[in-house]
Amino acid sequence: MSKNKLRPCPRCGYKGYYEVNGLDETRVACSHCNFATNPYIDRDDAAKEWNRRA
Ligand SMILES: [Zn+2]
Repeated sequence: MSKNKLRPCPRCGYKGYYEVNGLDETRVACSHCNFATNPYIDRDDAAKEWNRRA
């Protein structure tokens, strides 16, 4: 369970979600627009980038 709560999308205010790619890296993507963070091994790092932009 991540201690980083995801803020709303920095572009549209919609909800972000965790998306894992084939390399076991996680990024945070928006379910409404195409905004997404870079992929990270640690999902907390993706959450940090997301929240920094939000
Ligand atoms: Zn969005």
